[in-house]
Amino acid sequence: MTRLLLATRNAGKLVELQRLLVAADLGEVEVLGLRDVPEFPEAPETGATFAENALAKARDAATATGLPAVADDSGLAVDALNGMPGVLSARWSGKHGDDLANLELLLGQLADVPDERRGAAFVCAAALVVPGGTEVIEHGEWRGRLIRAPRGTNGFGYDPIFVPEGEQRSSAELEPVEKDAASHRGRAMRALLPHLGALAG
Ligand code: IMP
Repeated sequence: MTRLLLATRNAGKLVELQRLLVAADLGEVEVLGLRDVPEFPEAPETGATFAENALAKARDAATATGLPAVADDSGLAVDALNGMPGVLSARWSGKHGDDLANLELLLGQLADVPDERRGAAFVCAAALVVPGGTEVIEHGEWRGRLIRAPRGTNGFGYDPIFVPEGEQRSSAELEPVEKDAASHRGRAMRALLPHLGALAG
């Protein structure tokens, strides 16, 4: 059976990536997480783009383990902030991975931005690296607007303040299957699927 490594330490992302792969029914592919392989050094995320960071994470994991690896890099691009926090989304408040502090800082920064200028998009680059072989990157975007106070308990990160286009609910109020069908990560991962299917042979 072919093994595939999901190279992320973000628990929220890991749940979603696993869910998306299960839904894809890849057959003869066993999906592993980083806790299933020996620890290896991970370079800091210094890329200027989501694609650079996703590729770097997948390459590090594939080189260290010899396994095909998938990594995503994602974030929130806010129109009124010229696309920031962007690649800095996970550490916007200065502390990596503090979702609540990141969200509260962003809400404060946008306090005086009127409703008609609160557009934003979640963006995701998903990379597959096969040792000594294929490198593929796919992108996904999910447009919406930012509300003024958090709502909902599903998902992670900025989900409680993001209302997708065509919705009244925040993405933290969507059912997981609804988020997967529309989200940036869902779109990017579905674009990668044909390449993952090729792994299974
Ligand atoms: P990174 O890709 O590990 O650099 O981190 C991505 C960061 O972007 C997360 O920590 C979240 O703050 C944010 N983010 C990415 N995708 C989502 C999502 O689906 N919902 C909410 N926040 C997200």
